[in-house]
Amino acid sequence: MFFKRKANIESPVIKEAYVLGTVIQLKVYGNKAEKAIDESIIRLNEIDDRMSVFKEFSDISRINKNAGVEAQVVNEDTYYVIEKAFEYAKLSQGAFDPTIRPLVNLWGVWTEHAKVPSKEEIAAELQYVNYKDIILNGTNSSIKLSKEKQCLDVGAIAKGYAADEVKQILKEDAIKSAIIDLGGNIFALGKKFDGSLWNIGIQHPLSSRGKFVGIVSFADKSVVTSGNYERYFIQEGKRYHHIIDPRTGYPSENGIISATIISDYSIDGDGLSTCVYVLGPQKAMKLIEGIRGVDAIVITEDRKVYVTSGIKDNFKITNEEFTEADLFTIGGRAK
Ligand code: FAD
Ligand code: MG
Repeated sequence: MFFKRKANIESPVIKEAYVLGTVIQLKVYGNKAEKAIDESIIRLNEIDDRMSVFKEFSDISRINKNAGVEAQVVNEDTYYVIEKAFEYAKLSQGAFDPTIRPLVNLWGVWTEHAKVPSKEEIAAELQYVNYKDIILNGTNSSIKLSKEKQCLDVGAIAKGYAADEVKQILKEDAIKSAIIDLGGNIFALGKKFDGSLWNIGIQHPLSSRGKFVGIVSFADKSVVTSGNYERYFIQEGKRYHHIIDPRTGYPSENGIISATIISDYSIDGDGLSTCVYVLGPQKAMKLIEGIRGVDAIVITEDRKVYVTSGIKDNFKITNEEFTEADLFTIGGRAK
């Protein structure tokens, strides 16, 4: 299921594949583009095999099957991703929680059994959600969940890690210009082939694909968006999406409909985009303003766009339905 094009000086090699539960696209310029893409797809499949909650023999599934029983030694990359997920859970005081899986299963968003659960069902699963029950042992890269029935899900952070890994492979093959698109996790490597900045459109969260709220310009950065507009179901006229607030057990509802993070590492962008989505605009903007080298573009349902100070000069709203919110009215500060 690959789409190929031959590379020359101006035109990139473009390939698509299905991995990490999504269609990914790699657009790579340079002499070794073909080889670099092939190596990247092998690595992406390896990450999927190790970190998928859907594959019975993945590291994550082994940890889940042995919850409350015994620690499992995992690959170093899986350990690193879970350690990072734990870090973001702490930073967001549990708004991001990689033990969310029992609730993700219950809601079944993006599956055939998607439905609104009862309050009792939600309360029953909520007791298993607590990142503090992840026992990490760095001496032998082993991980254990304290209680039976607890379940890890690194879906909110592993695509970011995968994008960083692809970037590394491309760099080792002397690639200087590429777009790595892992279903919403984008890494724009270097600059465009002509030396200008990349322009990435921020998807209109209330409209069809390809319509943008604004354009962000930069070189060599990750751009990750968490939104409510791709994975969701509708019951009795109400939309239920896939990002669950671990404090309530319901899909997060705080006004945010799209949260984009611009950062040097995509694992940080992916982790933080989910944190920001659950935290809500005020707490989110404060958090991101305080992290050096990381910026956010947050869109709320009243069509306001919150932009951190570091990205203001490189982001332009191009859709007149949206207006920029004033950061200072919500207690933000310049870096
Ligand atoms: P993000 O905001 O980055 O993450 C949201 C996802 O994280 C949710 O879908 C849920 O799984 C989880 N989550 C929800 N709330 C929280 C929270 N508060 N804190 C932390 N995590 C939360 N999808 C398939 O349909 N089939 C597959 O076979 C499949 N395989 C995958 C294999 C791997 C290795 C990975 C990384 C993902 C895979 N996926 C698959 C997709 C996955 O289930 C998620 O839907 C996807 O990663 C969501 O990414 P996002 O960028 O849209 O949203
Ligand atoms: Mg994420």
